[in-house]
Parts: sequence; structure tokens; C-alpha cells
Amino acid sequence: MKKILALHTGGTISMSQSSTGEVVTNKTNPIANQQVIPLNEIELVNEEVFNLPSPHITPKEMLKITNRIKTAFMDENYDGVVVTHGTDTLEETAYFLDLTLPNSYPVVVTGAMRSSNEIGSDGLYNFQAAIEVAASDDAQNKGVLVAMNEEIHSARFVTKTHTTNVATFRTPTLGPIGMVSHNKAKFFTTLIGNEYCDIETVIDGVYLIKAYAGMDSTIFDILNNDQTKGIVIEGLGAGNVPPKSLPGIKKLIDNEIPVILVSRCYNGTAQPIYDYEGGGIELEKMGLTICHGLNGQKARIKLIVGLSANKKDYDLAQFMMSATS
Ligand code: ASP
Repeated sequence: MKKILALHTGGTISMSQSSTGEVVTNKTNPIANQQVIPLNEIELVNEEVFNLPSPHITPKEMLKITNRIKTAFMDENYDGVVVTHGTDTLEETAYFLDLTLPNSYPVVVTGAMRSSNEIGSDGLYNFQAAIEVAASDDAQNKGVLVAMNEEIHSARFVTKTHTTNVATFRTPTLGPIGMVSHNKAKFFTTLIGNEYCDIETVIDGVYLIKAYAGMDSTIFDILNNDQTKGIVIEGLGAGNVPPKSLPGIKKLIDNEIPVILVSRCYNGTAQPIYDYEGGGIELEKMGLTICHGLNGQKARIKLIVGLSANKKDYDLAQFMMSATS
């Protein structure tokens, strides 16, 4: 019998709707006491790590979850871990766990779009599916997974795409890696590459900036100070920025602040294609690192993890370049 630990961290999955319609937090988690799995198949242990709406979660809480999961696998003989989490920052926590845990650990993150007592609430169903995925022999060596709405996604690429719809979690460009149907997890693909960082602390001062038409250097000039440890820019299209933002970006590079370039597009990856002022080729020559395949919020998490693991210069650039290392 598989032994699964469910770590609850808060979010809509643990909330309920009041008689006047507001979604509010509860003192006790309504899903933790529900019988979701036949007792003879899986031994399920529920534990509350904290009870936070996910906009309140920071990399420090993420590291706390990483450390709890390490103990569960190394000292307590669990076969799999499920993390329940608010959906707003779920993709960031899931990717943080992916970068800071060995990929042999079956870890599955889930949440809900409708709180526990709303009609059509998806929390219990997603929780049950996540437990089945974590208990599946095939979940090993896939990295951290996100199970929502009968789909299994890689934490590395999944993103929240809708404010309220239950089919919000999608993997643009690549699609889900498996599905959960009638309590069975089925996988259709394997994981390419994984670099795991064993970190003990997380640094602050890593920012995410979205480029826009007519952008100038103002934001970059404000961020050019000793507290700034790294910047991710969501560039336009394949990874380009408006010319007036270049002097500010250049000063950051001269000040040895790592600057990572991704695309603000929902699909595809940033690439050095254009050789005009502010084009990706020029940005790469200027010293920006182009990160292929991650969205802005995930590239920021990766930069925090890389810097917290004391990666610098060439090593940091290599780490940041690819979503598959
Ligand atoms: N705002 C909520 C949160 O992220 C939404 C959710 O849980 O789905 O905690």
C-alpha cells in the first residue's frame, strides 16, 4: 500500500463561500477530513503547513514546503506527496519545488477554482486526482507535477490562463503530459533533463518587468541599485525591447546585475532572431541571457533559485538559458 502525505497550504481549495457570496478562509480545512480514497489502496496523511491565500506566499514559504517534502521522503518513508495550494501563484510554487527537489520524488500540486461549498466545486475532485497521480508508479522521474481538471502538467511549463474557469491550467506550446480518468493516472511523455539545486535560503531582490510599446529606461534606472540581485524582462515577441529602454538595461549589465530575457508571448520561446536596435541579437551581445521556454514568473523563480545556490556569471547563464536543464 502506498503512503501519501497531503500538505495543505491554503487557497480556494480550503476556503468556502459565505451566505453573502464572499469567498473566505476557514479555520479548519474542509477537504482534509473528507474520505477521498478507498482506505485499502492508499494510506493518506493530511498535514497543514500553513493556511495562506496564494498571493501571500513568497519564496520563503516555498522553501518551507521543499524542506517538509525532503523530510517526508528521506526520513518518513512516504511514497508520494500532494501539495494543495491557491491557484494564483501555484505555478510558481510548483516550479520552485521542481527546481529544489530531486525529480525521483513524486510530488503533485493541486488547487481549486471554486471553493469547498460552491456548486460544482472542483477541490475534492482535484485533490483525489492528485493523490492518484502521486501514488502512480509512473509519476516517478517526471519532476513536480500539477494535476487539475483531469490533466497532468509539468510544473516547469504549466500556467494559469483564466481568472475563474476550472480549465484554467494549461501548458502553452507543449500541452499536458498526462491525464487522470476514472481515478487512473496515464502519462504520455517523459521529462527532458533536470537540474536540482539543494538550497538552504532564498534571496530577495529579483524582479520581473514586462516590456511594452514606447517603454523607456525609467524602471531600469530605479532598479539599478545594490538591493537588486537580478531582473527578468518579458520582452516583446521573440525577445525584443523598445530602443529607449536600452540605456537603462545597459547600466544594469555594466553594474553586473544579471538580466534574463523571456517573451511576453503566451506561446513559443524567446530567441535571438532580430538584429535591429533593441532586437534579441543585440540584447544577447549586450550581455542579457535569453531563457528559452519559460514564462516570466517561472524564469524569475529559476533566477532566485540559481542565485540562492550561489551560481554566478557563466554558470548562472548556462543554468538560465534552457528550461530543460
Ligand atoms: N486567490 C486564490 C489563491 O490563490 C485563488 C485560488 O486559490 O484559486 O489563494
